[in-house]
Amino acid sequence: MMVDRRGFLKLSGLSIAALATGLGLDLEAAEAQGYALKLSGCTKIPSICHFCSGGCGMLLYIKEGKLIHLEGDPDNPTNEGTLCPKAASLASVAYSPDRPQQPMYRAPGADEWQNISWDEAMERIARKAKEVRDKTFKLTEEVIDAKTGAKETVTVNRAEGIAFIGSAEVDNEESYLITKLSRLIGSPYHEHQARI
Ligand code: SF4
Repeated sequence: MMVDRRGFLKLSGLSIAALATGLGLDLEAAEAQGYALKLSGCTKIPSICHFCSGGCGMLLYIKEGKLIHLEGDPDNPTNEGTLCPKAASLASVAYSPDRPQQPMYRAPGADEWQNISWDEAMERIARKAKEVRDKTFKLTEEVIDAKTGAKETVTVNRAEGIAFIGSAEVDNEESYLITKLSRLIGSPYHEHQARI
């Protein structure tokens, strides 16, 4: 008899279940006990998935500062305990050895990235933003009066060389701060990825 991979897994599962039943083992009870043992000593923290704008609720189980387990929050009306694969694999994102831990810089023409400090990154971003703002700032603009057709010069104070774009990873508080910064700098270009 030829058995494909899926059939083999199914047969293996059935055999184990049959063996367990034959030995008088209660698989459901064993699973529940394993679950309880895994979460023992953890602090449960309700949270929201940051991957997309769905806003699914999650329960995070933390022990000694480390994420031990996560699952969908059954009390969240958006996802009612379910999670899509992106959120279900979130622990791998947090602890992946490939995750950059500090800012990186690639010089013009270079083909390699180098690690830089947070101070250096912040200083560089601030200097570049100032440079662009100074170069592209528009104080006034000539407009035509819709009623009279007369031209007039009005004050606009726009930083036309700077744009802000939000993403689904940006939460409410960050959105508030980005909006404040955009208005403060004078940029009229303030958009969200979902509208593009
Ligand atoms: S669990 Fe999936 S669908 Fe829900 S917010 Fe996260 S990424 Fe979006």
